[in-house]
Amino acid sequence: MIFTSSGVLSRRIQCAICNRDIKSLQGVYQSKMLHGVVCKNCADMFPPDDIEMILNLFFLYGGYFGKEGDKPFSIEHLAISLLLVGEKMKEDNKTISIDEVHQKVMHQALIHGISPTEYNNKLKKFLK
Ligand SMILES: [Zn+2]
Repeated sequence: MIFTSSGVLSRRIQCAICNRDIKSLQGVYQSKMLHGVVCKNCADMFPPDDIEMILNLFFLYGGYFGKEGDKPFSIEHLAISLLLVGEKMKEDNKTISIDEVHQKVMHQALIHGISPTEYNNKLKKFLK
């Protein structure tokens, strides 16, 4: 990583979660498992375990937190996402674990700007 003695970055680095430019290294989170720097905002917003999980999902499926944030995402969207994942699996003649389905839907929630905590709360309400 390149930064000047004042701590200001001399090269453009984007947050691996929200995709915003990181202008200072103060308070950033450096992933231990994946190459990625997370801005202070995201580091403050998500617990470290969630950060690693989010980075893993964006590494696997692409996108970033809030990419589709202007589009609505409700429980109905969640259910549709689940159905679409199921349809795609059938088309591809694949078997998929419930964990993979959960990962794909969690990824959809994340690109709609929904945090893992919000997602889990929505899911709990939906299942009641
Ligand atoms: Zn960020």
